[in-house]
Amino acid sequence: MADIIKLLPDHVANQIAAGEVVQRPASVVKELLENAIDAGANAIMLIVRDGGKALIQVVDDGLGMSATDARLSFERHATSKIQKAEDLFSLNTKGFRGEALASIAAIAHVEMQTKPEDAELGTVLKIEGSKIISQEVCATVKGTSMAVKNLFFNIPARRNFLKSNQVELRHITDEFHRVALAHPNIVFHFHNNGSEIFNLPKSNQRQRIVNVFGSKANQKLVPVEEDTQVVKISGFINKPEFSKKSRGEQFFFVNNRFIKSPYLHHAVVAAFEGIIKPDTYPGYFLYLEVDPASIDINIHPTKTEVKFDDEHTLYAILRSTIKHSLGQFNVVPALDFEQDQNLETPYAFKDKEAQLPGVAVDAGFNPFQQKVGNSGSAYRKDGHAVNKSWEGLYTGLESEIGKEVSFTSMQFESDTITGSVFAEQKESLESTSTTFQLRRKYIVTTIKSGMIVIDQSRAHQRVLYEKFLKNITVNEAVSQQLLFPLSLSFSKADRVILEEIKESLNTIGFVFGKMDAETVEIKGVPLLVSESEVGMVLDQLISDCQMEVTDDSFSQTDILSKTLAKTLSVKTGEILESASQIALVNDLFACKESLVSPFNKPIYITITENDIDKKFI
Ligand code: ADP
Ligand code: MG
Repeated sequence: MADIIKLLPDHVANQIAAGEVVQRPASVVKELLENAIDAGANAIMLIVRDGGKALIQVVDDGLGMSATDARLSFERHATSKIQKAEDLFSLNTKGFRGEALASIAAIAHVEMQTKPEDAELGTVLKIEGSKIISQEVCATVKGTSMAVKNLFFNIPARRNFLKSNQVELRHITDEFHRVALAHPNIVFHFHNNGSEIFNLPKSNQRQRIVNVFGSKANQKLVPVEEDTQVVKISGFINKPEFSKKSRGEQFFFVNNRFIKSPYLHHAVVAAFEGIIKPDTYPGYFLYLEVDPASIDINIHPTKTEVKFDDEHTLYAILRSTIKHSLGQFNVVPALDFEQDQNLETPYAFKDKEAQLPGVAVDAGFNPFQQKVGNSGSAYRKDGHAVNKSWEGLYTGLESEIGKEVSFTSMQFESDTITGSVFAEQKESLESTSTTFQLRRKYIVTTIKSGMIVIDQSRAHQRVLYEKFLKNITVNEAVSQQLLFPLSLSFSKADRVILEEIKESLNTIGFVFGKMDAETVEIKGVPLLVSESEVGMVLDQLISDCQMEVTDDSFSQTDILSKTLAKTLSVKTGEILESASQIALVNDLFACKESLVSPFNKPIYITITENDIDKKFI
């Protein structure tokens, strides 16, 4: 039989390798940024067009390359970073595989300009799909510029698989965050479609975090510092009250390289145990320095996973370091003079003495924000209790929140200003049906065959969800003009998402005014949203949209409606007067789907007379 095994031609091998290295435009961004850092750049500029599909360009002022190196850098397994296998154990660079440029050049149009400091002239090189188109000398400055155009031009399947420009941009921004946070001593610029979205001066770790995430970030940070023989830890954790229901703002850097580590994440979460609500995640920016010989970053092609020699020790040190920082922070609360747009959420009531809400001493006082606990004013004009941030969801827990609820209910019983959310239907229904509320959680009502028990919160979620969905699709939402427009600040990344969902937000009644680098003006809000809730509602919408990366407009609408329904619905623990109960029941059964909540949870159960009879046997 004739021999049939052949070596693959280089460009085919490169294309195959590219499948691993380059998943999407963000992977190219990561590789190019890392190369610039490895080249010792002091300033790096990232330029992106159309979510990276049209152009990704990285310009650095690093070492540059000679004409020969410029040519060689596109060969597979060509690297200046390691020479022998042992070098892998003392790695100080991001790259070492020597396959990024070869892979990128196999699936895109690449133009490189580069010049080392000591050369008179530089090199300009063009490659398309692994084929060198031209190589010439040129006059240029020290450093390297890599422009990658038309990514996946020769692999239509991959190109079609890419998401919308906004979604790809979001992935790119994530990569940019990781690199920029790891290297505060490097200047970064980031331009998207001609406008600058980041301009990060050289700074310390804390300033870099604030420059990336916006001035709001500053007041959240608690420093972390530890130096042991195994590891040196520095960085910040977010104060417990800022922990979020969604992931995000969780960063580990090992020797200035961003890594993912579920194990170390667990160590941090364990340190927060008992002081943050279940199902919320603390934010952190932790920089670990370890002996390069004690880690193996070779185990994953995209290199965000790391194998540590002594994970258990690292876990223990990390956990106790964080606990220590949290303890310190409790003793010495940070003084914050900046206004806080978030609702302050006390997290350790058990150890604190009861305090009256003190406006006079509250530096973060915001006149548009209603405080938890002022139940007198905590009712919206439509009579619906303003939901108490996300606490409402935790009313089942034995905690300060539980107390909070009974406090409110005391007020309730003394002055029964429990207007109706569903006021319109009040008259017609009151006299005909009987309902009662069970444990401020269920509405019980009779039906011909027996009775039904309805989860009030889920029922209201369903009603609101269908209402918002309809508003968005038929575009008939009513919005209330704010007398004084609100101005809220968002991080750059949040701004990107906000821009993306702005149109849908308009259709449900948000009216936006001026938007500048730091702040967004809000001139109108949907009828159902009160002024004090706007910040919270938008934060929640943004983080929900962030979690569910999506670009088709239907699922965006769906996420928005779900989030609004969840945020604005009546919660467990809230008392509903009987007209509200009746109206809710009727609204529920007028829904297209009344069996399950928007989150697919059962809304009600029925108990027939027969069921009851059986119990009496
Ligand atoms: P690796 O980074 O793993 O070495 P790459 O394919 O990313 O592999 O790059 C190949 C080589 O090209 C690098 O080892 C480096 O010598 C050179 N190189 C790439 N980008 C730059 C840059 N921006 N400045 C200077 N040299 C670069
Ligand atoms: Mg590289």
